[in-house]
Amino acid sequence: MTIDRLLMTRFTTLLPSFPKDVAVPRLYKFVGLNVGIAASAIALATPLAAMQVQIKPASPKLGDTLSVVVRSDNPGSSAAPTVRFKDKTYSTFPIGNNRFRALLPTTPLDSPGTWQIQVSGEGKSEKLTVKVSNRRFPIQRINLPPGKSRNATETERQQVRAFKALVTPQKYWSGSFIAPNKGRRSTGFGVRRYYNGKFAKDYYHRGVDYAGGFGSLVVAPAAGRVALVGRESEGFRVHGNVVGVDHGQGVVSIFMHLSKIKVKEGDLVKPGQAIGAIGSTGASTGPHLHWGLYVQGESIDPASWLSAGWE
Ligand SMILES: [Zn+2]
Repeated sequence: MTIDRLLMTRFTTLLPSFPKDVAVPRLYKFVGLNVGIAASAIALATPLAAMQVQIKPASPKLGDTLSVVVRSDNPGSSAAPTVRFKDKTYSTFPIGNNRFRALLPTTPLDSPGTWQIQVSGEGKSEKLTVKVSNRRFPIQRINLPPGKSRNATETERQQVRAFKALVTPQKYWSGSFIAPNKGRRSTGFGVRRYYNGKFAKDYYHRGVDYAGGFGSLVVAPAAGRVALVGRESEGFRVHGNVVGVDHGQGVVSIFMHLSKIKVKEGDLVKPGQAIGAIGSTGASTGPHLHWGLYVQGESIDPASWLSAGWE
């Protein structure tokens, strides 16, 4: 069993970009361990019988998307391998040159540490590990007067849940994403909250907020198919006027609190195409766009998708 030298030289590290509008410093626990990280990254290019597995980025942090690429050296291989991760089994999708990929979510609710990834295919199964390091997310303290919270309606909850669970084999996007609004970012991904002094352990800011003015354009950050259109008048009490775009292969975007919606369900959108306008519908205290990017049903940090993207 030899490690494929060609693959190793192509093994690149995607460093996520760091948001600039967040005042709270973040901890990168493994910053000082570059040598160890590089060594373990190379070890991850593990031969699996006739398969090669690559995990990127080399030193992920909570909130990052992990890419697991399995390359089959058997050109006749057509069955997609599966990847077991966080007690769930994920499908892989063909991405060309005998390669299959699963994109996997990590979130601020996960625990940092060494995680197992089990890859199964061609009658073989192999366990790999990936070290996911901690990240300090900014904290907000919110005081809510009693009775002020707005809950989602049942129809809203069901439609949004079904949308976020989409795993469409077709891949619509290509390369890096663009910001969905030209305004400045007002709240970054992953912010944690205390409500009335109590830490909300299941809460994290599941997206990025943009403070473009009322009526400013919201554009598709990448190609996709419109798979959710909901209106405040139809019971979308929390999301307000909302558009969901399916980018394919388990990657979806949601755009909330819109004043206007310019697309309908089933539309194919191109990157940069207007899909709506910023508003303050639903549970919103002022005009802003909330953009949530989800991978396999979980909200992840869009940073690496905006800076480098995934092929
Ligand atoms: Zn938000």
